[in-house]
Amino acid sequence: MPEFHPQVLDSLRQPLETGSITVARANAHIAYPARFQLVAAMNPCRCGGGGDGGTGCRRGPRCARDYQARISGPMLDRIDLQIHVPPVTPADLALPPPSEGTAEAARRVAAARAAQAERGHLNAHLPTDILDHVASPDRPGEALLNEAALAHNLTARSYHRVLRVARTIADLEGQEAVRRIHIAEALACRRGLFEATRQASGAALAAH
Ligand SMILES: [Zn+2]
Repeated sequence: MPEFHPQVLDSLRQPLETGSITVARANAHIAYPARFQLVAAMNPCRCGGGGDGGTGCRRGPRCARDYQARISGPMLDRIDLQIHVPPVTPADLALPPPSEGTAEAARRVAAARAAQAERGHLNAHLPTDILDHVASPDRPGEALLNEAALAHNLTARSYHRVLRVARTIADLEGQEAVRRIHIAEALACRRGLFEATRQASGAALAAH
C-alpha cells in the first residue's frame, strides 16, 4: 500500500467514508456510487527486510518510519481491521489444518449477513442512530470502549467503527448482545499494527 503516492491514497478517503465519489468539472459536479471493500497489504519497511527484530534491514529504524508514514493518520483511521501477519515458520507448516474450514466459515458469514439484513442494513451501512441502538454494548463493554477512547485518543469515527466491527463479531458468533469480549476484539483489530510491524515482517490491512 505505501508504494502508492500518499495523495492518491488520501483520495480514497471520501469514497471510503461516503460510498460515493464526486467528480468536479467546470460546469458540473457529478457523484458516482463508489462503495467498495479495500484490502491492502504492506511490508514493515521499504526494503522489506525489517522482519522480527529488524535484522534484515540495514537502514532501520528510519526505513520503517519513513515507509509507514506514507499512510496518513486519517487514512489509517478508515481501515477497520489492521492485522499483523507474522512470518510463517517451519513449525507452522507442520500444523494440522484449522478446525473450521472455508465452507463452515462461509456458512457463518452468510448467517451473520442474514441477521444484518433482517435489521434492514449491513453493519457497515447502518446509520449511526440505529447503530447506537443495535450495537450498544453491555456495561463492561461500554466501560472498555470509553477507556480505550480516552487512552488512545479515538476519533468519533473510530469509536463508531469499533462498534460496527464489534457488532459483526457478535453476529459471527450468532449472539444477540454486543459484549465486552466483542469490543476487546474489535479494538485489538484497530490498534497496535504499527507497533507490531516494527518487529514484524508483514502486515495486512482490510477495510470493513
Ligand atoms: Zn528496511
